Amino acid sequence: GTKLKSVLSSFSQVPRELKPLPSDRHSLDDSCVRLNTNENPFPMPEVVMQSAIAALEQQYLYPEHDNIGLREAAADAYGLTKDQVIAGNGSSELLGLIYRAFLAPGDRVAMLSPGFSFNRKLAMLQGAQFLEIECGQSGVLPVEELLSGPAEGAKFILLANPNNPTGTFVSVAEIERLAAQSDRLIVLDEAYVDFAPDNGLRLIDHYPNILVLRTFSKSYAAAGIRIGFGFGHPEIIGRLRNIQNVFNMNVIGQAVGVSILAHRDAYEENHRHIKQERERVSFALSQLGFSVTPSHANFLLARVPAGQDGRWWQKAMKRRKVLVAAFSESFLKKHIRVSIGTREQMDILLSEASEILGKPK
Ligand code: PMP
Repeated sequence: GTKLKSVLSSFSQVPRELKPLPSDRHSLDDSCVRLNTNENPFPMPEVVMQSAIAALEQQYLYPEHDNIGLREAAADAYGLTKDQVIAGNGSSELLGLIYRAFLAPGDRVAMLSPGFSFNRKLAMLQGAQFLEIECGQSGVLPVEELLSGPAEGAKFILLANPNNPTGTFVSVAEIERLAAQSDRLIVLDEAYVDFAPDNGLRLIDHYPNILVLRTFSKSYAAAGIRIGFGFGHPEIIGRLRNIQNVFNMNVIGQAVGVSILAHRDAYEENHRHIKQERERVSFALSQLGFSVTPSHANFLLARVPAGQDGRWWQKAMKRRKVLVAAFSESFLKKHIRVSIGTREQMDILLSEASEILGKPK
């Protein structure tokens, strides 16, 4: 009893409110249609698969400790130098590094709200104050609010573009306006940008206060392999790399990342499919009485038809083996978020939703 108490009381840096995410065991033969975490069911191109298999032969070696091969490949692909690139075990690893590097207890960080909720947890871990700046679903950047008032002292500003969970997209010109007026770091999380009409990568050459994050979890359908990138000014990238764990990525992640970069054109058809399917499903859901936010990502945020809330819909769909996301935030209580998958998966979503509503299929 007293030993355990003594050890637990030494967890001074771990806030008691922090709870682990509920576990979501799944196996490859899982019969559920998983539309709750914005994955992309596009099968790995054969050539990328071969790179993963070849990497297995190096399993007895440590991976490159600094991901040099992958960083060089990314620099080549995106027209940068390797010093402008950091590679992460998913972009969430890089988000974690940014919070650790920039925030001491009591510091402030500002995020557009609604936003990617993992950020709230990272801020809490640092003992930092997490400011959520209302942006709603308008897709208009509240530049003045991000720069004055409570957000004025924020150590950095986080914006995802397209945003999660809304799918809204703000123009690169708006982001440039924010970067030009601010001396603070702007973390531009472009996890979903390959489904959008433009991207902000070119801004890093003019604004050292912009750090762009990308991931291969969504548009490159590799969420299980864990590949993410940060692109920014060499000095900022260098500082982040200094606090990164050595061997943060494994040999398979490094090899698959290099191979995806070399075969990006193999994914273009998938991106076209997702954008088309997004519009079809958006229309079909609105025919069923959902109110759908126009999306530039691989998911849709939909306000459910009157009468029930998002959690009710999440449970009703789960009983029918379709997983969708629902939210605790009060202003999203009436919403669900559904990822865009294959045509077949989307047809299942639509037919189950219409059955729940008692409408003929
Ligand atoms: N940023 C945003 C906005 C996301 O939605 C996600 C995934 N849900 C991530 C970052 C993290 O992605 P990953 O760690 O798989 O790269």
